Amino acid sequence: MATSHLLLSLLLLLLSLLSSPATSLPTSICVIGSGIAGSSLSFFLQNQTAIPTANLSIRVFERRGQVGGRTAPVNISGDLFNAGASIIHGQNLHAIRFAELLGLDRADSDGADWLGIWDGSGFVFKTLKPPPESSSATYKWWHDIADVLLLLKRYGFSLYRMQRFVIKLLEKFILFYKEPEERPIFETVEEMLKWNDLYALTQRTLEQELIDAGLSARLISELVTVITRINYGQSVVMSGLAGAVALAGSNANLWSVKGGNWLLARGLLELTKPTLHLHEKIESISDKDDHYLLTSDIGKEYECDVTVIATPLDEVNITFVPPVSLPSRRMQHTYTTFIRGLLNPKYFGLSSVEDIPDLVGTLETPDVPFSSVSILKKYGEGDFAYKIFSRAELDDSLLDQLFSVRKDTVRIDWPAYPHYKAPEKFAPFLLDQRHLYYINTFESAASCIETSAVAAENVARLIISRLLQSSVDQNIKPLPSSEEFLHTDL
Ligand SMILES: Cc1cc2nc3c(=O)[nH]c(=O)nc-3n(C[C@H](O)[C@H](O)[C@H](O)COP(=O)(O)OP(=O)(O)OC[C@H]3O[C@@H](n4cnc5c(N)ncnc54)[C@H](O)[C@@H]3O)c2cc1C
Repeated sequence: MATSHLLLSLLLLLLSLLSSPATSLPTSICVIGSGIAGSSLSFFLQNQTAIPTANLSIRVFERRGQVGGRTAPVNISGDLFNAGASIIHGQNLHAIRFAELLGLDRADSDGADWLGIWDGSGFVFKTLKPPPESSSATYKWWHDIADVLLLLKRYGFSLYRMQRFVIKLLEKFILFYKEPEERPIFETVEEMLKWNDLYALTQRTLEQELIDAGLSARLISELVTVITRINYGQSVVMSGLAGAVALAGSNANLWSVKGGNWLLARGLLELTKPTLHLHEKIESISDKDDHYLLTSDIGKEYECDVTVIATPLDEVNITFVPPVSLPSRRMQHTYTTFIRGLLNPKYFGLSSVEDIPDLVGTLETPDVPFSSVSILKKYGEGDFAYKIFSRAELDDSLLDQLFSVRKDTVRIDWPAYPHYKAPEKFAPFLLDQRHLYYINTFESAASCIETSAVAAENVARLIISRLLQSSVDQNIKPLPSSEEFLHTDL
């Protein structure tokens, strides 16, 4: 009896799905934010196989005049550089797929090869200066070997343990790319991270995780610290998963999009053609029971069946009616200063600028006012483009000590990524019982281009599955109670 009841339910469900055309789904989806989260959501919503999404109408709202959010470019003396996100890992399969689909070329990342670790008074460690371009392949090979030996001499086999730690992360992260049928749809970040065994890393600090993984104190306080300061502007007491992502972002296998990483967001939006509202900031979202009413700063109102927040809510001022409750989170501000000019070797106690490594990383000490300085481009003798990361704004007097020549200076204050503090708490992807979604809750696990895309894909699947479910709920007459069913069956 129970079996025939179940079969009838399934049959009704199937009939309802087949008989309800796509247009019977609630169709208007409003997305706030045109960064990689919002643009890839638009892509994933329209690329859910076997689901009738063709008639979904999508609007994307962007308060700025350009799409891309934290992948924006910056113009330094006529040249464009990535102002925010600059590196993409070689195993970031969504970003790779997007670039291929959009016909975008990959460039080597702007990470510099020659690293020096500065403690405020001297370089505690330097890798070898790269050989001249004209060197033979054999010479370059021996040079690379010597570089590895130098690293091994200072940090020993802890380096291998660090690599194992990153490989384990990647092995788990890659499960997010399994075929949709093999992957659940998640309503919370906790469920999502528990599914591939990454949740525990968000509950402890990176330092605790690395000590348990057998890394030496020296490696943690030097090389690992340099990496977390560069990639997240934070120390090794940041939470473990974001810290592990930072370490993955220091691998050799990195790339960026030729012409700028923002081209991913632009390309995805051009491909999927949502209605794009540039220069339009959403100020309030009110739940009107059968739709959401969005109001914007240019006095317009929009009725949306589904609303998706594709931006961190920590520093944006959107009024929710009724209010939504989120765990508190603060954003780490990273001050990014771009300079066309020349570093001053005297600042580093050196006599020649040629002795300053291309990437100067720094230790966790109050004596150092910046996290890193790196060369972005060499124009010629004495003429370089640099990028500096710092936790506070660098004033002119400090820059005048750091640089002997400064032709162009551009400062950006980014609310860059969450300030990671284990144990992390997560807002749900679904902020109410209806159709209000939040992609950037996932940033509390780790913030990067790829995690935004991974979270957006899950939210797209969640939206579609919940829309289908509510369509079924509306279309199916309630099933007979078991007594009635028994009676009919008899
Ligand atoms: C300095 C820096 C370096 C980084 N380095 C890397 C890196 O090397 N590699 C990497 O993968 N990641 C890096 N990241 C992180 C990466 O940039 C982000 O994780 C990712 O770009 C987030 O994308 P998103 O779409 O989720 O959010 P965002 O890119 O922030 O997009 C949100 C968009 O929403 C818009 N918006 C906000 N409020 C409203 C509103 N009320 N109405 C309308 N529009 C609104 C914003 O203007 C913005 O365009 C870096 C970030 C920074 C800042």
